Amino acid sequence: SERNPNQPEFIQAVHEVAETIIPFIEENPKYKNKMLLERMVEPERVVMFRITWIDDQGNIQVNKGYRIQMNSAIGPYKGGLRFHPSVDLSILKFLAFEQVFKNSLTTLPMGGGKGGSDFNPKGKSDNEVMRFCQSFITELYRHIGPNTDVPAGDIGVGGREVGYMFGQYKRIQNEFTGILTGKGISFGGSLIRPEATGYGNVYFAENMLQTKNDSLKGKTVLVSGSGNVAQYATEKATELGAKVLTMSDSGGYIYDEDGIDQHKLAFVMELKNERRGRISEYVEEYPNAVYHEGKTPWGEKAAIALPCATQNELHEEDAKKLVQNGCILVGEGANMPCTPDAVDVFKKAKIFFSPGKASNAGGVATSGLEMSQNSLRLNWSAEKVDDKLKTIMKDIHDACVTYGKEDNGYIDYVKGANIAGFVKVADAMLAQGAV
Ligand code: NDP
Repeated sequence: SERNPNQPEFIQAVHEVAETIIPFIEENPKYKNKMLLERMVEPERVVMFRITWIDDQGNIQVNKGYRIQMNSAIGPYKGGLRFHPSVDLSILKFLAFEQVFKNSLTTLPMGGGKGGSDFNPKGKSDNEVMRFCQSFITELYRHIGPNTDVPAGDIGVGGREVGYMFGQYKRIQNEFTGILTGKGISFGGSLIRPEATGYGNVYFAENMLQTKNDSLKGKTVLVSGSGNVAQYATEKATELGAKVLTMSDSGGYIYDEDGIDQHKLAFVMELKNERRGRISEYVEEYPNAVYHEGKTPWGEKAAIALPCATQNELHEEDAKKLVQNGCILVGEGANMPCTPDAVDVFKKAKIFFSPGKASNAGGVATSGLEMSQNSLRLNWSAEKVDDKLKTIMKDIHDACVTYGKEDNGYIDYVKGANIAGFVKVADAMLAQGAV
């Protein structure tokens, strides 16, 4: 923490990994005294830049832009761009660090990176968002490339923003290439990419339950968030026979005791993706549901919790309530949504808990599949991509079991994911020498 003052999220993420990796390094002589963890916590490169753009009133606006190129041992840097007022070095370094392990777990050749801006897309017009994205890429383009660094979406960056950034990159470079993932289908995007993170999280949960011959069918589920990950986690959980009771946004959460079925979810998608409205509007459309302002859904009773909004959104007290209410599985859809104290509660209660770097890896895995399709200049069918996604999530699950199973039979998915992710990157770094 002396080397990285004022970076609490980054230190939290490193601490969580170090706890399981340091004992593993001590037990495995080939990794000892190679400064592997020390190297991994230092980004290979950090780019920080100014973004200026003109708002609809003709005023010049200024934002901060970043790209963290964390680790390229096993492939080009890969990771999303986040546009949110809270974005700073600490948040992006935590995300980039996690991304290195996550991408390693996917089995695909991708290094780790992350970037974004403190730009707040809320309340901005379509033209303002476009001008901002163009300005962002006008600087970032020189630092990225299909064999160097391939960004994607994250909070505040969806299909619209990726499209604007792709257009600007192509205009500057005069080159049609897979420089970003999460693109529209008509210009190189992959089917199932929008769905992949949420679907993958649910596939991972199903894999965990299967270790006890159980399944999602008939289970009640709490989802937080109502963005990309939350929407498709809700869709897949419902499809597999579960009943999703809640969704949320930064204003509060809605509880629908009848379940958020496909029809209601279509309303949420239109509300959030097209009208860019608030989740509170759900109860105007479906008066049986209740809106809880300023609260998160973790006080409600359900078998499964899928936090899909943002980091540190589920605290120790929330974890205790979930366990008391009979929750048997927590699957992180967001990155680091559960605080370390909350994770401890789940581990002590011996319920299923999957860290985001394992259970939300389906998004970046499918981005990897988008890169493959772009290189091949081919488009795979939805079934083919979905099948590959299912296989990858199962492989990640099984790797976590291999490295995380304890003598008493309990599977520590945190430890499993950290070690499985570490081994591949560490081996590549060792082979490539002191770089
Ligand atoms: P979106 O922007 O689509 O949605 C984010 C959701 O979380 C919104 O409902 C938003 O509410 C809520 N939210 C964001 N910030 C906060 C906050 N500070 N407090 C409370 N609620 C908040 O993002 P995604 O769905 O893409 O991302 C969600 C999480 O999943 C993030 O942690 C992201 O890093 C992670 N993730 C995403 C992947 C992807 O493929 N998209 C891949 C892997 C991980 P509001 O509308 O009010 O802001």
